[in-house]
Amino acid sequence: MRRDPLIIGAGPAGTAAAITLARAGCCPIMIERASGPTDKVCGDFLSIDAIRRAQALGVDPASLGAAPIRYVRLIHRERVAQAALPFPAMGLSRRGFDAALLRHAQSVGAILRGGQTVRQLAREVAPPAAAPSANAALARVPLATSRLATTFPATAPVAGAPEAFAVLRAGRLDPAAATCQANAPPAAAPGQWTARTADQTAFSADTVFLATGKHDLRDLPRPRTDRGAVGMKMYFALAPDAARMLGDAIELTLFPGGYAGMQPVENGQAVLCIAIQRQALLRHGGTWATLLVRIQQHSRRFSALLAGARALLARPLAIAGVPYGYRSDALAAPGLFRLGDQAAVIPSLTGDGMAIALHSGASAAEAWLAGADSTAYHRALARTLRRQMRLAGLLHHACMTGSVQAAITQAAALFPALLHQAANRTRLASPQAPSGQPTGA
Ligand SMILES: Cc1cc2nc3c(=O)[nH]c(=O)nc-3n(C[C@H](O)[C@H](O)[C@H](O)COP(=O)(O)OP(=O)(O)OC[C@H]3O[C@@H](n4cnc5c(N)ncnc54)[C@H](O)[C@@H]3O)c2cc1C
Repeated sequence: MRRDPLIIGAGPAGTAAAITLARAGCCPIMIERASGPTDKVCGDFLSIDAIRRAQALGVDPASLGAAPIRYVRLIHRERVAQAALPFPAMGLSRRGFDAALLRHAQSVGAILRGGQTVRQLAREVAPPAAAPSANAALARVPLATSRLATTFPATAPVAGAPEAFAVLRAGRLDPAAATCQANAPPAAAPGQWTARTADQTAFSADTVFLATGKHDLRDLPRPRTDRGAVGMKMYFALAPDAARMLGDAIELTLFPGGYAGMQPVENGQAVLCIAIQRQALLRHGGTWATLLVRIQQHSRRFSALLAGARALLARPLAIAGVPYGYRSDALAAPGLFRLGDQAAVIPSLTGDGMAIALHSGASAAEAWLAGADSTAYHRALARTLRRQMRLAGLLHHACMTGSVQAAITQAAALFPALLHQAANRTRLASPQAPSGQPTGA
């Protein structure tokens, strides 16, 4: 009998897989290091392909208060290019979106182990032929390296534990978990994967869905195709004039070495998310405060948007070493399915990472349910993403390069259809809206 996949990471990719598996009658277990809803470095832009995928999974962003986004603006210094988005889009905080997906995954039968960080992942093999018995200690095999175990970097659990993160500690299982546990053999068998958490709890499964997002396994890292990229984020309460100026648009301000996206989200707030080359961040003073001053000096419009704004987080969120352009085509191992950012990292300016995460999670689960192996899944995903990733990479590079930023913005101001096309062609094919669901905005 096949055992249900183990899901490591309960962001959009992991929960999409969990919902798909649970709906098919499986009992997937999600191991998640956070013990409560968290903010994440992300522009919070949900495009139509993400909205429809979320709806198909059973979560409607509109019902969570998401703000409609109808326009896209590209800003360089004082030049502004604007176009209507070719699809409905929304702004929704990751704290709200991820928690809703997770609640839903649990409501359809997935099990959450919250507040648990996976530190080791290894595949078991039978002992050498000379070994005395089948009960001898199982050997750990490396995946692509010669190390004996695959380890995750240590990370601290996040405070707070609302009901969606009800932690199932050893010896305290809810009835659904007990059903899953009853079906599970007590120890790992040859060929299976074993994940060990910080408190040394071991989870074994034939298949692992790796959905740790921006956080890599220490010994199974994604190749760093762009080591230098840094992502930063802050929520603001904008002054009334600035909120009116932003309206229902996503504004992308280009500045030397990076771009800054601002848009409304739920509860009348706005999110500012910046992608910048590491060297450029250092040139701009190396801190969030000095960077904001630099962008404000560069663009009067950006300065006007932030005039009188109140920061809503105690400090900005940041992540370094974002591997833009990465795709997992060559990293498949038997029984290991990479999902979301572990499968592909599309440049942030597209705002399509969450759509890819939801799609990869659901399609990995469907592939596994249909008996396909991980190589077939990774190849199919790579084919699906190839065109949009290629164009996104070119646009990202151009928007980061100071010498062409003015020309791009001028071209977009003269021909707004270019913005329209760029938005359309950096999207996953959009599934049909589930019957009875609005399209989104
Ligand atoms: C600057 C920036 C802006 C972006 N803006 C947008 C945007 O506007 N729109 C958009 O669609 N996409 C955007 N993205 C991309 C988007 O954030 C990602 O594609 C998306 O979060 C991927 O989802 P995921 O489920 O793969 O990973 P994540 O959302 O990162 O979830 C991974 C989960 O795994 C957990 N985890 C990590 N390590 C462990 C461990 N060892 N053990 C247990 N659990 C673990 C984490 O706590 C987390 O909950 C942006 C990205 C960046 C960097």
